[in-house]
Amino acid sequence: AAMAAAEAKEERIMVSVRLRPLNGREAGDCSDWECVSPTTVMFRSTVPTAYTYDRVFGPDCSTRQVYEEGAKEVALSVVSGINSSIFAYGQTSSGKTYTMTGITEYSVMDIYDHIEKHPEREFILKFSAIEIYNEAVRDLLSHDTTPLRLLDDPEKGTTVEKLIEETLRDKDHLRDLLAMCEAQRETGETALNEASSRSHQILRLTIESSVRQYVGRGKSSTLVACVNFVDLAGSERASQTVSVGRFKEGSHINKSLLTLGKVVRQLSTGRNGHIPYRDSKLTRILHSSLGGNARTAIVCTMSPARTHIEQSKNTLLFATCAK
Ligand code: ADP
Ligand code: MG
Repeated sequence: AAMAAAEAKEERIMVSVRLRPLNGREAGDCSDWECVSPTTVMFRSTVPTAYTYDRVFGPDCSTRQVYEEGAKEVALSVVSGINSSIFAYGQTSSGKTYTMTGITEYSVMDIYDHIEKHPEREFILKFSAIEIYNEAVRDLLSHDTTPLRLLDDPEKGTTVEKLIEETLRDKDHLRDLLAMCEAQRETGETALNEASSRSHQILRLTIESSVRQYVGRGKSSTLVACVNFVDLAGSERASQTVSVGRFKEGSHINKSLLTLGKVVRQLSTGRNGHIPYRDSKLTRILHSSLGGNARTAIVCTMSPARTHIEQSKNTLLFATCAK
């Protein structure tokens, strides 16, 4: 039983909160939030409220620290053949892209570091990138913006039809591809108003490894797994319904974000009930990297500004439900 408990603990979703500093535009604003310990953020008011998570990162914490303590272990499980996903969740302008970009860079550095330290193994790295906007899936490595279909493969699970998967030559190749994704996302932003606040971006790194010269008996084991870096749409699109605990469907509500919330909440209960992966494109695509044997980390980002209090509380509510 102790073992089972330890395993269950291992598979729990790692939930952390990052409170960013006040920015220039919020100069006249003030903050009622304070990180009072490495795991607790406090809301200061006549009735103070404490919120506790696996880790809480205050305005002085660097992205390196957020990565090291909130995402690294989950990201690097990919080199041991375990699928993983790392999410940035929060309202628009709370720091999702800022945080996820750094986490992705540090993860890539550590993955290449691992590869260099294991010359006895051969590694093949592949990279793909998609954006989900209004439940339409688009390839960020292609200039073609035609929506892509999802296919259900009995062995591979859900795959994205015609998705470009680049085999990486080296770190610089990956850096170029990441820059291309960023540029593609920006193009979309000017063309489609508010695109970045409404769209989800998934960057996926798939790693295959096997022993170079296998001389033992039997088959050499090949490990294959992927790590997903997910920069979610702004949570202001979903939080109102989350806060009242029911779900209104509608075109103005982000279906993938709502479904992710339901899936995460179901997973966090640890029970084996029905998990609605199939209800959105995001959760279908991430199915094999979310729940089951996969590892998950969620970094919830929040603005310290008083004007954003309601959204910040909604974000913490999501974080609490994910624990
Ligand atoms: P989101 O992706 O959630 O909309 P961004 O990541 O674009 O938000 O962040 C909004 C702005 O705040 C950007 O200018 C970003 O550089 C800045 N920012 C976000 N988080 C931090 C932080 N922890 N420290 C300093 N600046 C930050
Ligand atoms: Mg963003």
